[in-house]
Amino acid sequence: MKTITLGNINIDQLVEFDTIFLDSQWMYHNVENEMLLRAQKELGPKFVQPDTLKLGLSFHSFLIRTRGKNILVDTCNGNHKHRGERMQWQHMLDSPNYMNNLAKFGLRPEDIDIVLCTHLHTDHIGWNTRLLDGRWVPTFPNAKYIMARQEFDHFNRLHAAKPDYPVGHGSFADSVLPIVEAGQAEFVDMNYLVEGNLDDGVWLEPAPGHTPGHVTVHVKGGGVEAIMTGDMIHHPIVFLEPTLETKHDFDKEQNNQTRKRVLERLADTQDLLLTAHFISPTAGRVCSCASGFNFKFLDK
Ligand SMILES: [Zn+2]
Repeated sequence: MKTITLGNINIDQLVEFDTIFLDSQWMYHNVENEMLLRAQKELGPKFVQPDTLKLGLSFHSFLIRTRGKNILVDTCNGNHKHRGERMQWQHMLDSPNYMNNLAKFGLRPEDIDIVLCTHLHTDHIGWNTRLLDGRWVPTFPNAKYIMARQEFDHFNRLHAAKPDYPVGHGSFADSVLPIVEAGQAEFVDMNYLVEGNLDDGVWLEPAPGHTPGHVTVHVKGGGVEAIMTGDMIHHPIVFLEPTLETKHDFDKEQNNQTRKRVLERLADTQDLLLTAHFISPTAGRVCSCASGFNFKFLDK
């Protein structure tokens, strides 16, 4: 993704993995082969892998730079995290990509001022922490990690009910609790102004469904708004096949309503949709069409 400039605010994509192919049925339980073949033709082999018909997903953060502040939105999978055989693609990763790409922006971990969590799923909080002398410590020592109180409370209740059960494949224990213990977590309302104001700034809005406390991150400058939608939408195939359902939503119906509201809000405007998993060029605009909505990627 090219740098997006909105007034005085720059948005970049900080990539951990630009494409991981995941099982289509695992992503969307009601997907059919002919839908995948149609999507492959429409979107290309980067998005739907030939032969296997697996779906290509990107794992990236967004880096927002404004008023001398460096803000990360979500932190991907992370290294050295035990996720179990069923989650092989994110199990015990050992990749230099994320830190190398941060360095390419001229930034060190200590330069990050704020980490915003759209939600607390494994693949969005991994680099919250890193392994140091056998302990999980905050990767970004000077950052406050902002998360919705409702989201934290939901996962904390699950954890408290069964302390030995690995909530989020273990990610709540290794990527959230160490942040709280270090005093770097800040629990906020799902409506929350992070920086500046609603014409020139960064804020959170409620977007529940995928998880109970899921939020979108809004960035506005120069009259244009970008909405970072976390996991309310995973792959552009859903614009072609709106009936697809993912089993990864906590409340499917609520997520459908949230997604419809956000897409209606963006449709036929200059405002941008920035999802957590669309592969390059990632960013784009929404337009309305007879079947609902289309998505048009920005140029690379
Ligand atoms: Zn995700």
